[in-house]
Amino acid sequence: MTGTDLLTTLHHRARQLGFDLLGVSPARPPEAHLDAFRAWLARGDHGEMAYMARPDRVERREEPALILAGVRTVICAAVNYCPPSPPAASPHPLHGRIARYAWGEDYHSWMLSRLEELAHIVRQETGGAAQHRSYVDTGPLLERSFAAQAGLGFVGKNTCLIHPRLGSWLFLGELLVDIELPLTGAPSLPRCGTCTRCIDACPTGALTAPYRLDARRCISYLTIELKGAIPPELRPLMGDWLFGCDLCQEVCPWQRFARPTGVVAFQPRSQLAAGLSPMDVLTLDEDGFQRRFAGSPIARVGRGRLLRNAAVVLGNLGTREAGPALVKGLSDPEALVRSHAAWALGRVGGPEAVDALEAARAREGDPQVRQELAAALDETSRA
Ligand code: SF4
Ligand code: SF4
Repeated sequence: MTGTDLLTTLHHRARQLGFDLLGVSPARPPEAHLDAFRAWLARGDHGEMAYMARPDRVERREEPALILAGVRTVICAAVNYCPPSPPAASPHPLHGRIARYAWGEDYHSWMLSRLEELAHIVRQETGGAAQHRSYVDTGPLLERSFAAQAGLGFVGKNTCLIHPRLGSWLFLGELLVDIELPLTGAPSLPRCGTCTRCIDACPTGALTAPYRLDARRCISYLTIELKGAIPPELRPLMGDWLFGCDLCQEVCPWQRFARPTGVVAFQPRSQLAAGLSPMDVLTLDEDGFQRRFAGSPIARVGRGRLLRNAAVVLGNLGTREAGPALVKGLSDPEALVRSHAAWALGRVGGPEAVDALEAARAREGDPQVRQELAAALDETSRA
């Protein structure tokens, strides 16, 4: 079988498996993208994601042959996860928003099992000789750069991969192989023109320049990747985002070409599209959290981070109705939750909040939480 025939077979099978796009990139990312990535790390824009800056990771990112000896090409696949319809009105008057990618099942296993099926075809058609490695957003790869080189779209000023006929609600996966395949990409220049909608829409100023994301300010990073306390100065800017943020994609004009995904696994499940009640979230114990989010990308952040985010949303909603849930949060077993519940109660204010904050300060042993309690009491006295 020739490389062209193999690629045709892969295209055909990828479609059957549910992928929307498939392309082939050279095995090295463009030098300009590597330079931009080095500068991103040098500025510290990756925040606490220290694994990204690990020397072995950086080396492998620059030289994919260190991941797979003799790698010749990268097969890039993408699947559209655009939900079928706009979110229904939330059943909860107070709700926190969830980024679209988390409305359905966790995509990692969906993608990996299908990439392995494609790898099986490659092995079969090369008499078992071809080697491969598959990745879905956790590997040391500049995946959007490879996808752009494979002709799957262009990287926009919001740093997302955008397909001119599908938009950017796309999950990406890569298969590194040590065989030559026909390349599918044409030089994919950004097609943003003079548009700056994503930069203007970002509430935290995380898009510090076109094509440049300071993860430390991004709500997706703050609500998902960041393990510790959210910087107090950023909390009020996060609005009602409970998990992730879609704003810089929602405003993008290329999203008018997005069409609903046909993949069953990515259909919205159990009200996530309409948002969750942060007050309900604050009542979840570990078992309740595991039961509620089994199989969802939300499970990856763990209970503490999700309850931390819920407290921030309630602080931003600022309604007294949130008081009882936040008072309960002051006694949570996790210091991270107690400290953010304290901050939120400071924003909610009122005599009950003051009493609860005083009582918590009298019993609290964690210095970080004590600091948050003191700041919250200051806030209530100012109000
Ligand atoms: Fe800004 Fe939200 Fe986009 Fe992050 S995801 S860059 S916070 S708009
Ligand atoms: Fe580009 Fe405008 Fe989309 Fe931002 S919103 S990625 S500038 S087209």
